[in-house]
Amino acid sequence: MPINTKVPEYGDGDFDFESRYTAAEYTPEDTETELSLRPKTLDEYVGQEKVKSNLKIYIEAAAARQEALDHVLLFGPPGLGKTTLSFLVASELGVNLKVTSGPAIAKAGDLAALLTTLERNDILFIDEIHRLPKQVEEVLYPAMEDFCLDLMMGKGPSARSIRIPLKPFTLIGATTRAGQLSAPLRDRFGMSFRLEMYPPEDLARIVTRSAGLLETSITPAGALEIAKRSRGTPRIANRWLKRVRDFAIVKGDGTVTEEIADLALRAMEIDELGLDSVDRKMLDAIIRHFGGGPVGLETLAAVTGEAAVTIEDVYEPYLMQLGFLNRTPRGRMATAGAYRHMGVTPPDGLTGAASGQQLMDTGEDG
Ligand code: ADP
Repeated sequence: MPINTKVPEYGDGDFDFESRYTAAEYTPEDTETELSLRPKTLDEYVGQEKVKSNLKIYIEAAAARQEALDHVLLFGPPGLGKTTLSFLVASELGVNLKVTSGPAIAKAGDLAALLTTLERNDILFIDEIHRLPKQVEEVLYPAMEDFCLDLMMGKGPSARSIRIPLKPFTLIGATTRAGQLSAPLRDRFGMSFRLEMYPPEDLARIVTRSAGLLETSITPAGALEIAKRSRGTPRIANRWLKRVRDFAIVKGDGTVTEEIADLALRAMEIDELGLDSVDRKMLDAIIRHFGGGPVGLETLAAVTGEAAVTIEDVYEPYLMQLGFLNRTPRGRMATAGAYRHMGVTPPDGLTGAASGQQLMDTGEDG
C-alpha cells in the first residue's frame, strides 16, 4: 500500500509514457520536478480564487475549534492542482497528509490499515475516488460519518462484526468524474469544489514562477505563449516550460522568448490553442468523415487509438472549454469554431465558438 507517495499508475495502466505529450496525467519526468515546483503555501497557489477563499474560511474555523476539517471532494480534469491543494490544506492545518488512490485500495483491510494509522485531524487524500471498489466504499461510510470501522471477522456462522474507533480525520477525495461517484459517497462530503481550467494569465504566472525555480530566464511574452498552449492545465504548462527551456538552450541564448516557445511547441505539433495531433485527429474525423457528428465515444476512441476514458477525461474537457465540441445524447458534435480551426467552412446555420482564440484570451468558459 503506497503511503505518502503519489500513486504512479494513473489511468489504465497501459499508459504510453513516451508518446503521450498532452495528456495531463503523470509522466515519470513530471514526478521529479513536480515536487520542486509545487506551491508551498495557499498564497503561492495561483488562481481558483473561489475555492481558495472558501477553503480558507473552513480551515480557519476547523483550526479554531481544533477539530478535523469536514470531508472535501475536489473534482476536475487531471493536472489542475487537486493533489497540490490537498497538501496545502494539510500544511495550513499543521496536520499530516497521506496520499493514495481508489484503484490502489483493493480490500477493506487496506483501507483499515490506512485509517488506523492516521493521527487526530490528519488528512487522507484518495485520488480517483470514483474507482474505489464497492466493498471498500461501504467501509468508508461509517468511517467518514462516525469515525469508526465496522469490519467483519471470520466467515460463515462464526462471522462477527467488530467496531474499531478511529481518530477524527478528514477525507479529501479527488475525482475527474463527479458524475461517477455513488450518491451515498457523494453525500458524505461536507463540501465539494470544482476546479476550473486556468485562464492564460494565471498559467503565465505559474510558468514564470516555475521558470524562477528552475533558474531559467523567461520573457513575459514567452510565458504567455506557453500558457496559451497549455490547455488550461498547470501540469502541462510546467511540462512545456521544461521542453521549451531545452530549445532555448540549444536554439537560442537560454532565454525563453515567445519565438523560442513557438518554435518548440510547433516542433511537438502543439498548435496555437494547445491542441495536439490527437485533438486534431478527433476533430478531423468528426468533421470530414462524419459530417460534423454526432459521433459516438467508442468510434472516436477507435479513430484516435486512445482509450475512451482518456478521451472523456483529458481531450474532451478542453475541446468543450474552447467551444469546439458539444456532447449530445446521440454523440459528439463539432461546432462552427471547430470547423474554422480545422480550416473547413462550417455548414450554413451551424453555431459555436466564433474563435477559440477569443475564448482563450478572455479566459471565458466555453
Ligand atoms: P491533480 O492532482 O489535479 O492531477 P496536481 O496537484 O498534481 O494536479 O498538480 C500538478 C502540478 O501542477 C503541481 O505539481 C504543481 O506544480 C502545478 N500546479 C497545480 N495547480 C497549481 C496552482 N494553482 N498554482 C501553481 N502551480 C500549480
